[in-house]
Amino acid sequence: MKSILVLGGAGYIGSHTVYELIDNGKDVVVVDNLQTGHKEAIHPKARFYQGDIRDRKFMDSVFEKEDIGGVIHFAACSQVGESMQDPLKYYNNNLYGTEVVLESMVAHGIDKIVFSSTAATYGEPENIPIVETDATVPTNCYGETKLSMEKMMKWTGVAHPLRYVALRYFNACGCHPNGLLGEGHDPETHLIPIILQVANGTRPSISIFGNDYDTKDGTCVRDYIHVCDLATAHILALEYLMEGKESNVFNLGNGVGFTVSEVIECTRKVTGHPIPAVIAPRRAGDPSTLIASSQKAKEVLHWNPKYDSLETIIETAWNWHKQHINGYNS
Ligand code: UDP
Repeated sequence: MKSILVLGGAGYIGSHTVYELIDNGKDVVVVDNLQTGHKEAIHPKARFYQGDIRDRKFMDSVFEKEDIGGVIHFAACSQVGESMQDPLKYYNNNLYGTEVVLESMVAHGIDKIVFSSTAATYGEPENIPIVETDATVPTNCYGETKLSMEKMMKWTGVAHPLRYVALRYFNACGCHPNGLLGEGHDPETHLIPIILQVANGTRPSISIFGNDYDTKDGTCVRDYIHVCDLATAHILALEYLMEGKESNVFNLGNGVGFTVSEVIECTRKVTGHPIPAVIAPRRAGDPSTLIASSQKAKEVLHWNPKYDSLETIIETAWNWHKQHINGYNS
């Protein structure tokens, strides 16, 4: 059996996908530089190589040692706010890193890659829910680099025998029900883990970034999708490529939008904590509303997300955060 190489397999969505792959009987190789990933999150049955995707010699050595049948690529910087302050970090890690990965794949005759893209590729949407054929005009540098990664794969696939699936996630959240895997970024910037840090006593309050958006309560609307549902989609996407099908792009979301205030209120209910909230200025680059149509993923990949209730999703995240007051360092 050929192995699946997971780049960024110690990170949040990567580690959940590795567990899902191994639970499905796959042989998995993980590459991670551990800059933001956590060694503790790597499945004990995965073979782990610590190194950077921008290091061509390192990438070549992994492809030479292992018999790789396909790649799942999560190894990228993913924070909207940081990307606006340090855009070149995003160009270097996300674009240059992907260039090296593709060069090494082409050199070793590996022709299938599934990769993390994002709703941020759309920018301010022209329609709600967003479909894959809508205009892509990113409003932040993170989304711009992810869109450029998609295009890099497209043009590489024109010149070489390489096929890709780009999965445009909406807001990934929740934690594995096994209690072993969670969401631990340092610094944390994502909404649900920050709210849960208020509930577990490590933060005094949550700042709401803007309450003057054109939404029902003035706060931004997002489509929250459980990380295990995203993990499943990667396996389906890889199987789709293994069936010889063409490169493709899919949205992954629940198709339901919640405002920031609604997410805070739901977390109060789940945790029983009052969770003080303060209004803060808008965050640069934030579109007001992002809601997915995932019809295409459901029809083509036969993806069927299991976690369709925000309350259940937050319960899985709370289960981890209440036991990991200091994240993976707890
Ligand atoms: N947000 C917020 N306070 C925070 C973190 C996030 O109000 O401390 C808002 C943010 O402006 C966005 C939503 O919560 O509207 C989701 O942000 P997150 O960073 O979790 O994901 P993104 O939508 O950027 O991928």
